[in-house]
Amino acid sequence: MTDDVLAQLRELQQADLPTHGGRLLAYVYDSGLAEADEIGRQALALYGATNGLDPTAFPSLRTLENDLVAWAARLLQGSEAVGTVTSGGTESILLAVQTARDASAAVSQPTMVLPSTAHAAFHKAAHYFGVRAVVVDVDPTIYRADPEAMAAACDESTVLVVASAPSYAHGVVDPIPEVAELASARGIRCHVDACIGGWILPYLRADGIEVAPFDFAVPGVTSISVDLHKYAYTPKGASILLHRTPGLRRPQYFAHADWPGYTMLNSTMQSTKSGAPLAAAWAVVQHIGDDGYQRLARTTYDATLRLADAAGAIDGLTVVAPPATTLIAVRTDERADVFTIADEFVSQGWFAQPQLSFRGQPASLHLSLSPATAPRLDELIEALQQAVTAAQAAGPVQVAPELAEAVRTVDPELLDDATFDGLLQLAGLDLSGVIPDGLGAVNALLDLAPPRLREALLIAFLDRLMRPT
Ligand SMILES: *Cc1c(COP(=O)(O)O)cnc(C)c1O
Repeated sequence: MTDDVLAQLRELQQADLPTHGGRLLAYVYDSGLAEADEIGRQALALYGATNGLDPTAFPSLRTLENDLVAWAARLLQGSEAVGTVTSGGTESILLAVQTARDASAAVSQPTMVLPSTAHAAFHKAAHYFGVRAVVVDVDPTIYRADPEAMAAACDESTVLVVASAPSYAHGVVDPIPEVAELASARGIRCHVDACIGGWILPYLRADGIEVAPFDFAVPGVTSISVDLHKYAYTPKGASILLHRTPGLRRPQYFAHADWPGYTMLNSTMQSTKSGAPLAAAWAVVQHIGDDGYQRLARTTYDATLRLADAAGAIDGLTVVAPPATTLIAVRTDERADVFTIADEFVSQGWFAQPQLSFRGQPASLHLSLSPATAPRLDELIEALQQAVTAAQAAGPVQVAPELAEAVRTVDPELLDDATFDGLLQLAGLDLSGVIPDGLGAVNALLDLAPPRLREALLIAFLDRLMRPT
């Protein structure tokens, strides 16, 4: 019976993209170290039944968390820093925003100033916690935050200023000293989103590569998020939020004694939480170690630079910004569209993430490299070249005029089930067979819609996907 259900799981998993092998250039981060994976899996199994709700009941979890936070604080030069292990980058960011809001309880309508390249998780925090996001355009040529414009956007209601190290979409590190300085001059907290770069940049620096200042060595940086389940290559469900001092962290904690049950005391958004991702993260970090991370960071960074050179040399492709870490984004000229390139790439067994056009910037394709990608870099470059050639031969996706018209005119507020079905029918789409190599037409269509309508369409789409059959 046991074998039977596990066999069923394996069977179901056949439909998924491959998590290992370095061909998935988003979502997963593969160290390429089979032993590290095995240790992570065993730690998950050992700790799957523990509960992180109460670190006095499971004192080992407290040790593991303090060890990981100490590791991150050392990497990010926070000599007095404290922190919390969370379930992911989004939870770390939600908590950073909530903490900043509650530290300024006197501000009745709090706001936060974000560069337009900040991760969508800040907008989720705005939505959940009632902190209005004031979005400031980045420099349109280099995609870096514009500190002067951000300073001008601050006022008495600003409780947080944000910068990225680097941004997810383009892999660009913001001018963090200038952003932190403008924040501290006004007594405002400054969060550095190093979710994707925080475990790479310190190791690149240790290896002698010049890295722009981004961590607690920069005066005025008050908190940093860094994900373990990205470039620390740990199983999913682990990130760290650091605060420069214990005092800055205090409003993050929640206690409630005014109910008949146990005294509720939480450091994160979750209450009962599995100790498994924490234990697995601890085990993988100990196993790979500083030397291992430094070597993996160098290998992946070198591969990214080589990919950037090769991609820039492909006729029709442009690299959006020089890579600061292990991420690159590319765009194409009018002979093709990135959505078709993405589909062609998938059909060759690779996966890169399409990014829709935004604030006058054209659509692009995002690639996050993993150590496991490095040995097959030539294969990757060849696949990209072929995908571009095929996409140019096919030409850009032509959205039928009546469909384009519908997408430009539908009111997102009025997108009910019937309207959504009408659009699906018009587009000839059948959601039962949604596969990643057939999304070009869907993306091209979404690309025509304004952001509010894209959101409404995606929500309607998810609502349809997630119904029990
Ligand atoms: C991945 C990422 C996040 C969000 O993290 P999740 O783990 O997906 O919740 C936030 N910011 C940046 C820069 C990221 O790369």
